[in-house]
Amino acid sequence: MPIQILTESVIAQIAAGEVIERPASVAKELIENALDAGASSITIQEEGGGKSMLRISDNGGGIASAEIELAFTRHATSKLNATDDLLHLRTLGFRGEALASIAAVSHVSVTTRQRDETTGIFMHLVGGSILQKRAIGAPAGTIILVENLFFNTPARLKFLKAESTEKRHILNIATRYAMAYPGVRFVVEQDGRETFRAPGTGQLADVLITAFGLDVFRNMVEIERDRYNEITVFGYTTTPDYHRAERSRILTFINGRWIQDTSITYAVTQAYHTFLDKGRYPAAVIMIELPPDEVDVNVHPTKAEVRFRDPNAVFAAVQRAVRRAILAQRTSSSPRISDAPTTLSLQLEQDVTWREDATIAPPRRYHAPLAEASRADETQRPRTLPVLRVVGQVGATYIVAEGPAGLYLIDQNAAHARVLYDAAQNPSISKVLAPYPLDPPQTIDLDNEAFRQIELNLGLLEAIGVKLEVFGPNTFALRALPGMLSDRDPEQIIALALEVVSSTRDEATLKDTLLKQLCELGAVRNGTILPPEDMQQIIRQLERCPTPLVSPLGRPTLLHMSSDQISREFTRRR
Ligand code: ADP
Ligand code: MG
Repeated sequence: MPIQILTESVIAQIAAGEVIERPASVAKELIENALDAGASSITIQEEGGGKSMLRISDNGGGIASAEIELAFTRHATSKLNATDDLLHLRTLGFRGEALASIAAVSHVSVTTRQRDETTGIFMHLVGGSILQKRAIGAPAGTIILVENLFFNTPARLKFLKAESTEKRHILNIATRYAMAYPGVRFVVEQDGRETFRAPGTGQLADVLITAFGLDVFRNMVEIERDRYNEITVFGYTTTPDYHRAERSRILTFINGRWIQDTSITYAVTQAYHTFLDKGRYPAAVIMIELPPDEVDVNVHPTKAEVRFRDPNAVFAAVQRAVRRAILAQRTSSSPRISDAPTTLSLQLEQDVTWREDATIAPPRRYHAPLAEASRADETQRPRTLPVLRVVGQVGATYIVAEGPAGLYLIDQNAAHARVLYDAAQNPSISKVLAPYPLDPPQTIDLDNEAFRQIELNLGLLEAIGVKLEVFGPNTFALRALPGMLSDRDPEQIIALALEVVSSTRDEATLKDTLLKQLCELGAVRNGTILPPEDMQQIIRQLERCPTPLVSPLGRPTLLHMSSDQISREFTRRR
């Protein structure tokens, strides 16, 4: 075949092949353009893995109507004047190739308006040829719709991976730019479904939580901004507890550009020396900032690789920053709760009070014989709760305890009621029902009907420690109360008993119902400041109650917050 000069369209397609390898390359170039245009919100929509449709909308500066054709001309850019500028690049694009390349291998529709123009412009291109161009009303910003990608390059189309792979690549690209630009809102919709959203809060953590998921982010520590020889490194990296077999979760960014660089990845893994086994890798997001003339981004067609003027300095800076982050976490005074439950307790103790000057009104010291609820065979009974350690008391109402599985907030009243009821099941061992004599006895005057109701149940009441004698017409003498009620108001006890006996139809359950009510009444009240021993006493007994989670009348006794939940709550609010 004689030598021939290639036609313009073949040249364009070859050139396009360099930059536009796959649908994700289109997404990458268009996202970069949107970012260069100063967008604060970017929406990426695709169908069919980007082959049938890819639309990027931004609210950036827009393209002037007069320049729209130029924008799609190869080597036309607003970002570079002379080669000198290549040394000071602040923008993501600079070659003026992307739009021309994308247009050469697809159907493109662009709608754009610059903020200060009254009308926008619409242009439609097929295979790089302009088929339509007209003024159009449009919001400020740019919408670029790419359809039928590679329609005229069947070879390229054939080599595309499965739709799901292309989808993943597009999602990854968007996610990475969201990390690099946490101040920009990103939304990704794939086949009509939202698959990613970055809120644009400016906080890298907010992006990482959705990008990696909480389970990974939970294990991350911040790499604090560390400047070393003009090189600033920051980001997030996982603690040595987290590791995986691939290094694909080590992401590197240079001046807001995601790049692949094996030496930086190596620097990160080196920082874990002695912390991670060979072949195990962390997840990390490493942001590197350095003067633009220290890095050449113009060495790779898709700008995915860069060349550093001083690679060793970058390596050292990254390794140092990551190492510091890991070490700081390991010795920190505020490590993650799952690692050091005692730290949580120490922090809580400062806030928790059992001082007499508590602000709860009216604080009462509890003197009733709490310990007497204990049972001789206590340690023989099976555990129903893990061993809990009392940390303190909140609001003179809730016992704060700590266990292997996290934090427990225990309602002292409900828990104590459960403990009393449990002990009452075995009166031969426990003293909760043992009669506590009233000296002198207290007289109780009732109306006819009430007197009769109580009189019918004197035996039953005595069996649970309430000892009443007929003292006169409609009058009882109260001679003893069960131990657990020794400091309660006798009138209130009789009123409660009366209510139970007159409302309970079922004779068989009457005693049990009465007992439940009296245990609830006898339990330490909320608003009572408890000494640590008493709190520990309640907890120790609760740990072996057959049903420790509810009071006799079914009120919850405790709230459990796992270490996971706690750290999740904190990271969510970060
Ligand atoms: P480059 O980004 O290298 O300059 P492109 O082909 O990607 O080249 O874009 C060409 C030009 O079109 C850009 O320099 C810019 O002026 C303009 N442009 C492209 N996309 C946008 C956009 N989303 N918003 C505003 N201007 C844009
Ligand atoms: Mg560009």
